[in-house]
Amino acid sequence: MALVDDGIRQFREDNPFESMMWRFDNAARLLDLDPDLYKVLRVPNREITVYIPVFMDDGHIEVFTGYRVQHNFARGPAKGGIRYAPDVTIDEVRALAAWMTWKCAVVNIPFGGAKGGVICDPSQMSQGELERMTRRYTAELVDFIGPERDVPAPDMNTNEQTMAWIMDTYSMHVRHTVTAVVTGKPVDLSGSRGRREATGRGLLFVVNEAVKKLGMRPEKTRVAIQGSGNVGGIAAKLMHETGYQIVAISDVRCGIYNSKGLDLPKVMTHLAKHKTLEKFPDAEPVTNKDLLELDCDVLLPAATENQITSNNASRIRCKILAEGANGPTTAAADDILESNGVFVIPDILANAGGVTCSYFEWVQNRMGYFWKEEMVNERLQDIMVASFHDVCKYAESHAVNNRVAAYMLAIDRVAYITRVRGIYA
Ligand code: NAD
Repeated sequence: MALVDDGIRQFREDNPFESMMWRFDNAARLLDLDPDLYKVLRVPNREITVYIPVFMDDGHIEVFTGYRVQHNFARGPAKGGIRYAPDVTIDEVRALAAWMTWKCAVVNIPFGGAKGGVICDPSQMSQGELERMTRRYTAELVDFIGPERDVPAPDMNTNEQTMAWIMDTYSMHVRHTVTAVVTGKPVDLSGSRGRREATGRGLLFVVNEAVKKLGMRPEKTRVAIQGSGNVGGIAAKLMHETGYQIVAISDVRCGIYNSKGLDLPKVMTHLAKHKTLEKFPDAEPVTNKDLLELDCDVLLPAATENQITSNNASRIRCKILAEGANGPTTAAADDILESNGVFVIPDILANAGGVTCSYFEWVQNRMGYFWKEEMVNERLQDIMVASFHDVCKYAESHAVNNRVAAYMLAIDRVAYITRVRGIYA
């Protein structure tokens, strides 16, 4: 991917951190951000690298590399998921940590931002190996995480079980049970009702608002979804139940397409049974790349970064781009989408339902009192709908696109609190 030169600075398009920083710099310039605050906010607060020895099942020891980047604490404890993948890099984790800071500020919840990642291939590891790796990673981070410090959550290839292991390991080290150290736990282990579905449900809420705003109707709206995991799979299910036509969906290996709409319950049964969408009948195969360029009304990338770039942005045909994944669009693609009239619901707004419900989980854990699912979903809807309209109003009043508006709104909120707290310099 290209080295982008906008006349002010250069960035590597495929580097999520450089892409995020380009957008940060652009928003800071438009906000006329104080130069001292700019210097403080453009760097992460802390970056931790750990080396994690793990006894593998055959008796040998493997040493994995893990990261935790704590980007900002101004608005509250840092918050952000942990990702297990072979291609994790420190720059990816840095970008994801910063996005968490901006995301929590966009939805106005009292958290800063963090993210973790371990370089590993979970598909090649047993449950026992994953458990030992998770526990040792947690042990290495025990002084840096905690309900008042930094609260991890699931991300790609981590799940409720991973969170249960983290909660247990942390609790063993501090000698008492601390449920609020992580969110995304199993419901029976002090998790929140509705958390598993929250990111997909949040996407549904903001897409509903965008559809209304653009004068469209769900029954006439064709949706293509890249990814069918926690975010994409659940968004697909909830959108189908609301009446949207899901015309395409994919997993890491392949996609499937039916211009008349997929039979979603059948798709989900096939996926659960075969662990892949391959060979699903009643649909045409489509690659992950071609899925993005399909004729549809809503495109929902919900897999990974750098999917919509300066190479393919001009061929994106949707009316609404709702970013379920973090960083699916590179900064170099933003202007192309804008000039083609695509209504973008940026990641730091669109997928914020997960962290919003994580905030509810943290609150419930600290109260020791749990809410009904209807209350969780209702409060989630209130926050997502209000945040959607905050961003749209900001975009209209400042004559910028939704992405720039979301960054400006977030940076302004974090800068304000930093100024009020004062910089301990
Ligand atoms: P997941 O592991 O549950 O699902 C990922 C999906 O994407 C799977 O269908 C997988 O097959 C597919 N996939 C993985 N790599 C791919 C690739 N290179 N090309 C195409 N498809 C690929 O993960 P998830 O929790 O659904 O997360 C997906 C994205 O959403 C990530 O960017 C994550 O950071 C973001 N996100 C997740 C949450 C959450 O609550 N889980 C919240 C906010 C944002």
